[in-house]
Amino acid sequence: MTRPNVPSKANTVLLDPALKLGANLPLWRRAGGGAGLAAALARPDAIIETLKDADLRGMGGAGFPTWRKWSAAAASPCDEKYVVCNGNEDEPGTFKDRHLLRWTPHQVIEGALIAAVAVKANRVVFYVNPHQAEGIDQMRWAVDEWTASDLLASVSKVVGRPVTLTVAPSSGRYIGGEETAIVSWLDGGFPFPRRKPPFPFESGVGGLPTLINNTETLANVPHILKNGADWYRDLGVGAAAGTKLFSLSGDVLNPGLYELPMGTSLEELVFVHGGGMLDGRAFKAVFTGGPSNTLLTARDLDVALDFDSVKRRKSRLGTGAMIVISEGTSIVRKVAEYVAFFASGSCGQCPSCKCGTFQMARLLDRIATGRGVEADRQALDHLCRILPGSGRCALIDGAVTVVESSRHTFPDEYEPKARYAS
Ligand code: SF4
Repeated sequence: MTRPNVPSKANTVLLDPALKLGANLPLWRRAGGGAGLAAALARPDAIIETLKDADLRGMGGAGFPTWRKWSAAAASPCDEKYVVCNGNEDEPGTFKDRHLLRWTPHQVIEGALIAAVAVKANRVVFYVNPHQAEGIDQMRWAVDEWTASDLLASVSKVVGRPVTLTVAPSSGRYIGGEETAIVSWLDGGFPFPRRKPPFPFESGVGGLPTLINNTETLANVPHILKNGADWYRDLGVGAAAGTKLFSLSGDVLNPGLYELPMGTSLEELVFVHGGGMLDGRAFKAVFTGGPSNTLLTARDLDVALDFDSVKRRKSRLGTGAMIVISEGTSIVRKVAEYVAFFASGSCGQCPSCKCGTFQMARLLDRIATGRGVEADRQALDHLCRILPGSGRCALIDGAVTVVESSRHTFPDEYEPKARYAS
């Protein structure tokens, strides 16, 4: 099979090859690193306003305006605060943060330190999935370099107390990336989510205000501070701002990590950058933003991949993961795999989640393998009705969303193949 020479329309900011230096602070600074932090230190009061003007959104899934979270953390009068960089990344199809942590640790650290300056936090923690051993090593080396550098001393001066940088391996579980689970883990407990409020920016690690941001979000910050809000907004297509990392996988010719303007169409991502469908098969659907959102189908190929446009199609951009499915692939089989993943990832605190996800996975497996009967479909119906909103976190809702979406979009695949034995 020959691979086409994929034209890159990417406006690479985060994946700029010149920044792919690993833990090497002198080289990073020679490549222009540190300029965003310098701009932030010169005008600390303007940081949040700049992010607001840039319309930076949370890249971990929610797409929540970053400036709002930062404003809330900054508003706390507490002397001590945390900034946590969330690098837990553990869901199927998402592989962007591990790249940033492994290859551009200084970009991430610079972003986290700008956050510390903006909200006056003196403790910065990099919460990294322990399965990403190279990412942890690079971050530890990079943190050592920053700790010994003059840069950190400058940050401490503006924050008003010594700023510490720590790398903390996460629990390595999917649910360990949920914000309240992060707080619980860093406090020495199990990575169990809890209901909100209080939000971590009100009461987080050690009871202190804690600002938690996704790795990709923080990696964007130095570039915005260095080049300005207008520059960042202009990177996007239409009203969308900036660029987005897309983890493209599934039945495409060129799976991989792509940085593209926010608002690039799904069609361009799959058929231009992704090289089109594997073996010339037809496009069937895409699990967007990970396996817990509403499926997009061939009718949605024109959708602009930005938070608001995807939301208007009743789905979510999420982390930017795009798992492409071709005609001939069983959607129920895929959904069964993902729901089994959620079942194994359930922390078990809520009986409805612990039992419900497991039960859904079992029913889906029966249907996907041709052993399903009408009673299985009815049981699935029942679970989809009673489970949403019954958990302390969104895991259970995500599992139901993908089941409901696939049942609605591909009802034929849920037709029972088996009959009751007479
Ligand atoms: Fe844990 Fe599931 Fe409850 Fe979330 S919904 S807290 S994962 S049991």
